[in-house]
Parts: sequence; C-alpha cells; structure tokens
Amino acid sequence: MSATTSQGTQNSLFARLDAKPPAEAAGVIIVDLGALADNWRALKAHVAPAACAAVVKADAYGVGAAHVIPTLNCAGADTFFVATLDEARQARALAPSSTIYVLDGVLPGSAAALSEANVIPVISSLLEAKEWAGLAPSRNEPLACAFHVDTGLNRLGMSVRDIRTLASDMHTMDRLSVRLVMSHFACADEAGHEKNAQQRDVFNQLQPLLPSAPLSLAASDGLMLGPDYHFDLVRPGYALFGGQALPGRITPVKPVVEVYARVLQIRDVAPGQTVGYSATFAANSMMKVAVIAAGYADGSPRNLSAASGESRGHVAFAGKLAPIIGRVSMDLITVDVTEFEGETPQRGDWAELIGPTITLEDVGSNSGTIGYEILTRLSPRFSRIYLGGPAASASGG
Ligand SMILES: *Cc1c(COP(=O)(O)O)cnc(C)c1O
Repeated sequence: MSATTSQGTQNSLFARLDAKPPAEAAGVIIVDLGALADNWRALKAHVAPAACAAVVKADAYGVGAAHVIPTLNCAGADTFFVATLDEARQARALAPSSTIYVLDGVLPGSAAALSEANVIPVISSLLEAKEWAGLAPSRNEPLACAFHVDTGLNRLGMSVRDIRTLASDMHTMDRLSVRLVMSHFACADEAGHEKNAQQRDVFNQLQPLLPSAPLSLAASDGLMLGPDYHFDLVRPGYALFGGQALPGRITPVKPVVEVYARVLQIRDVAPGQTVGYSATFAANSMMKVAVIAAGYADGSPRNLSAASGESRGHVAFAGKLAPIIGRVSMDLITVDVTEFEGETPQRGDWAELIGPTITLEDVGSNSGTIGYEILTRLSPRFSRIYLGGPAASASGG
C-alpha cells in the first residue's frame, strides 16, 4: 500500500452510486452483488469439473445473507453451507430448492428441528450420527447427512477410530444417507505448507473406510492449491466476497464490499497538544486532524490506535492515505490530514475505510487480525447499499 494510488476513487463503488447516501448517514457499506455473482462464477470456472458451493455462515460473512443468498442462487449456486440451524432456516427461505448443509451438525435435541427445516447436518462425531439416525424410523427413510472427517485440523470431524466404529455399526449406517464426505484444511493460507498435501493424502486414504459419496476438502484458499485439491465440491466463503487470503496466488475474484464514513469535523492541533483518549498521541508541529464517524462499534478495530511515533491504520480520501492517530474510540477515529494542504477534506466528506485504496487484507493485517474478522464485524449501524443482483429493486439501504 503506497501513500497514494493511481486508482483514486473513480473506480470505486461509491462513484457508481446513483444517489448520494442519505444526509444523516454517518457511514455506508456498499455491496456489489454483481461482483459477488461474478466471483462465484469465476471460482466455479476455476474448479470445473468440480462443483462449487457457497459458504454463507455468519450472515454471509457479515455482508447480508438476505441479499447474498438470492444473488448466488440466481447465479447458479445450489449448495450452501451455514454454521447454525437459524442460519439454515433463513437460507432455506431464501433459496427454497437448494441443498443446505449445517456445519455445526446435530446439537443435542436438535435433530427433529433440523429435519423439519429440510436441511442437512454435517456430522462430526459418533454421538451425532446416532442421534440423527435415531430420527429415521419416525421419518420412514434414511436421513440425509454429510460426514465430516478429521484429517489433521483437530477441530470438528470424526477420527479414524470413529469412522471405523461407525462403519461397522450397520444399525446406524442403514438409517443414514451420506450425501457428502468432507474435511477442512488447517494451513491452506500457506501454499507451501507441508500439511496441505498431508491432509489431502489422509483424506484419500480414508475413502475406503467411508460410504461412497461426493468428496469436498477445499475452501477459498485450498481451491487455489491446484486441481488435486478440488475433489467433487469446493466450499469457498471468503473469496466470494473478494477475499484474498492466500498470499502469492491471486484468487480470481474482485472486491465486493466498500466502507466509508463521514468527516464530522476538521480541527487544528497545536504543537504539544494531544489527541484522543489517554493522550497517547502528541502533535510535534501544527496539525490538521479529521474526526471521522467510525469507531470500534462500527468495525474499525481499536488495535488500529496509534500513539506518537506509531503507524497502524489509515483512511483514504480520493486515493490518498490519512494515518489514524491516537485511540480509536467507540464512535470516532482521528486521522492526520496535515499533508493534504489545498485538498484538505471538509466536514461531511466521505473517508474510505475499505475500498480501492485500502483492502480488507490491509485492515486485517494493520490491526493484527485477518480480513475475515474485519468483514464479519462490519457495522450494523452503517447504512447498507446493495448494487445489482436480483434483489436490487427490492432493496436500497
Ligand atoms: C468457514 C468454512 C469454509 C469456508 O472457508 P473460507 O476460507 O471462508 O472459504 C469451508 N468449510 C468449512 C468447514 C468452514 O468452516
């Protein structure tokens, strides 16, 4: 990221808005549903002949499941993964004829509700398998499920021993209809990590022990590792929203989300004065400081705070970076615009927080986290504007 970029804001989603955001909007999140659909199609083309699902847990990574799911469904996505039953019910209503997998699986006592919602639990343990199978007699048919097997992540997933036990338990197996066998990578964000090939090999070696079903291993990063990581179905989430998590292998997707917040005030700060809570930043010389209507309650991490001499995060005006100074507070950040001189932002101007100049990855790495966390914590307080997509005319803000 350089101090200025040639992109400026003319390529931004902000520049494409038909109407200005409402005068009272302190911040806006602009979502390009056309780019989202293009991203899904690009990933699908990249992994063909494997199929491409869409992972839309956590309100579609904070982007808004109500808009994201119909858009992807219209683009051709017919398989969705969510984490919880609540999310699955919402997905079922938005994409009625799709296949919906619930990654959290069967919570104790939840089998009947899962079945009523017509969604498929991803089963990660013997106990879950038995509980799900226990519902089959009342439904008069084997129940659809996915098997999640562990290949080295040691998060969710059945161990080899579980798989062997289950395979020999015909009473349970006869009551299950296994639609998918899946696993998940630990280190796919490092293309050269030895664990990637190890997990793929374990996944292959486990197949003779498992019922025959389509196989799925790769998420956004894994699908960029090459065709022998694709199997039958890939499960991208983050990349759909423009995420570039795998350094060095450019995922063929474009940005989907931009975030802007208003300048509330420009102030002059004299040498020796401090800016913000705990007085962590002191001016050495005469400064111009812009106060922006975005704080940690809006998803701007408090870790972007910068004491004197530190440099963490930025906002941008027309492609030019303005460093965050002092503490990020709940509703506000302060940025140094001294260098802007004749182009000093004005009260009411829009500061780019995420957009053509500052990527999700920039904000993630500057604040010591990942773009995923930045995306899923986007503000519920900011106005949302959805561009394009099947829900375009039905939505607005
Ligand atoms: C979240 C998740 C995904 C999607 O991961 P991305 O990195 O966002 O593509 C896929 N599979 C499982 C099991 C997940 O939990």
